[in-house]
Amino acid sequence: MIWYPYEQMKTMKAPYEILDADGVYLFTKDQKLIDSVSSWWSVIHGYKHPELNQAIISQAEKFSHVMLGGLTHAPALKLSEKLQSWLPGDLDYCFYSDSGSVAVEVALKMALQYSMNRGEPQRTMILALEHAYHGDTFKTMEAGDDEDYHFVLKAYGPSRYVVHIPTKTEALEEAFREYHDRLNCFLVEPLLQGAGGMRMYDVSFLKRARELCDRYGVLLIFDEVATGFGRTGNRFAADLVLPDILVLGKALTGGYIGHAATVANKKVFDGFYDDNPGHALMHGPTFMGNALACSVALKSIELFETQDYLSKIRRIEEITRREMEGFSDPRIREIRIMGGCVCVEVDDPAVIKGYQQFAYERGVFSRPFLKYMYAMVPYVIKEEELVQVLDTMKAWFAR
Ligand SMILES: *Cc1c(COP(=O)(O)O)cnc(C)c1O
Repeated sequence: MIWYPYEQMKTMKAPYEILDADGVYLFTKDQKLIDSVSSWWSVIHGYKHPELNQAIISQAEKFSHVMLGGLTHAPALKLSEKLQSWLPGDLDYCFYSDSGSVAVEVALKMALQYSMNRGEPQRTMILALEHAYHGDTFKTMEAGDDEDYHFVLKAYGPSRYVVHIPTKTEALEEAFREYHDRLNCFLVEPLLQGAGGMRMYDVSFLKRARELCDRYGVLLIFDEVATGFGRTGNRFAADLVLPDILVLGKALTGGYIGHAATVANKKVFDGFYDDNPGHALMHGPTFMGNALACSVALKSIELFETQDYLSKIRRIEEITRREMEGFSDPRIREIRIMGGCVCVEVDDPAVIKGYQQFAYERGVFSRPFLKYMYAMVPYVIKEEELVQVLDTMKAWFAR
């Protein structure tokens, strides 16, 4: 049997079985649902996209996968070249892996070894945010700050290697004052913290972080697994503040195949690039640079560029602001909107219990968690479909 994610298997309600999917719609045997979650924020172009499908089919007719150890191929080369020219600054060195968590692990391993290669092995500490989420593997759980997901780590006691701070400039400055000589990196979900509760904060915090990282020789790592490819209304938060290492996942392949990239700048790459074999990055996931994933990622980026997705996302934000304007309820703590993300935070998790089934009956797939009801829709959504998603949220409170 399937062991489902984040579920008590004994009491979980049966998942909805999907028989087909097309555009923003998922089809069950009795319902047609707008996917307001974009399959965990990844399916930005919707389902069964003819051009994305064709990219995979064409590549599968050549080969679906060959390893990158000792071999290389056009889809992996082209995607790295595309990212090199498309990403800001000198984020030019692309390390592939198969999931966001692994890509964050790679970023942390890269940052740690960067310091070791430079003769600063005492730099072992990670600065991270309160409510951070960076994945479910062990080091990413440690860097994360979400007991609801990662309480199992309590068995080990408090981490000696990770310091968590709120998104306040004073806390940032204080952390650098106290730990700067031991700090290895500052790992952040820029502008929008996703799984930790769709928390939004100002770019000025990241600008200050960039200054402090430069002053104290600390690497700045942006985990844009969730925020990348337009979700905040920016192509990447890295377009506003340039990190040393950028992590991409989720929407990289338009949600078609799990794949991710850890992209380093020249400074980080040069920290490995010398005659010493001991300075090599010793990492290599089996499916890194998978040819189907790279082919569909290339097509996904092409669509994003040629069909002006940033204006689609601006439209989503405008419609969302317009529809949520003036909406309130005593049970709601805050409504937050940024780019293609809207979150209704309530005071008591019990308030949104039952919402998933309510939305299902109204033709919307939603997956509220803890105190958060949210939507992160595919960017190809039509106005009336988005309004339906938002009306469904509002209708829940009007009962
Ligand atoms: C989803 C997510 C991850 C983990 O990605 P997986 O592909 O699920 O391993 C890491 N960081 C952030 C910010 C995420 O939202």
